[in-house]
Amino acid sequence: MMQLFIPLNFLGFVYREIRGALANIERMFDILDKQPKVVDTEGVHTKEVNVGSLKFEEVSFQYNDRPILQGVSFEVPLGKKVAVVGDSGAGKSTLIKLLFRFYDVDRGCISINGQNIKAMSLQSLRRLIAIVPQDTVLFNDTLYANIRYGRPEATQQQIEHAAKVAHLTEFIESLPDKWQTKVGERGLKLSGGEKQRVSIARAVLKSAPFLVFDEATSSLDSRSEQAILNALRDAAKGHTSLVVAHRLSTIIDADMIVVLSQGKVVETGHHTQLINAGGLYSHLWRIQNEQSTTN
Ligand code: ADP
Ligand code: MG
Repeated sequence: MMQLFIPLNFLGFVYREIRGALANIERMFDILDKQPKVVDTEGVHTKEVNVGSLKFEEVSFQYNDRPILQGVSFEVPLGKKVAVVGDSGAGKSTLIKLLFRFYDVDRGCISINGQNIKAMSLQSLRRLIAIVPQDTVLFNDTLYANIRYGRPEATQQQIEHAAKVAHLTEFIESLPDKWQTKVGERGLKLSGGEKQRVSIARAVLKSAPFLVFDEATSSLDSRSEQAILNALRDAAKGHTSLVVAHRLSTIIDADMIVVLSQGKVVETGHHTQLINAGGLYSHLWRIQNEQSTTN
């Protein structure tokens, strides 16, 4: 209970901090981390980086001397969808934090089109990546404003398009106040699945070449799950995407699946290969299918 209580409290604090002052989604990461560990080194270039594949090479990272990731290597080729799966605590979200340079790797290298991300300015790196985080923070404002947050200068047409890609239009139109519906503290409470679709709409609006999706752990009913699957599939079109998944049904169509266990890559392959291999992935798959048939 304490574990749940503290972060929610903290988010409330963060929310008050950033309300009104928000410029863009990156700023949220800056504020979440009151003392940024990563700052631009001198001489980084700020020119546009050519977008290409995304590569993790022998990446190791520890939190306070505790190894979290050990020698993780994989590549997300241009235009492909790569998924990372593994038990809770395996280090999946940490991979994303390293990519966004919320922290820097201890050893190894993360690169985009052959360029070490440490050599890019934080701003030019973060411009390339749209993140759908595990926990979406909504503001006490309208649905419209909550989606616009993905790109504050977006036009109404762009915002409506992003909502459509995220499969939110029908839901929004069904509300009495439609786009002007207040969400958050004093407004409509959104379900986990709806929140995550707002987050997908923000990412679509940002229109960055890389889409990174960190799936929420909360269990969803099969209708919400299908809505998210459709939203994710449409949002990922034309993007290079990295998807962290808890529900394996989210990633059956991935070009490659990386199975992480205790900070190490233990298997890679696509769904059928991994099922046939009979390793950890097929074990996770079996457990999830048993759960969904007994529920
Ligand atoms: P996953 O997303 O696969 O569930 P995470 O990457 O969030 O796993 O976490 C990997 C491990 O790192 C977990 O054991 C977690 O407790 C630990 N961890 C995550 N964030 C921090 C942090 N800020 N400080 C210390 N340990 C952390
Ligand atoms: Mg996680």
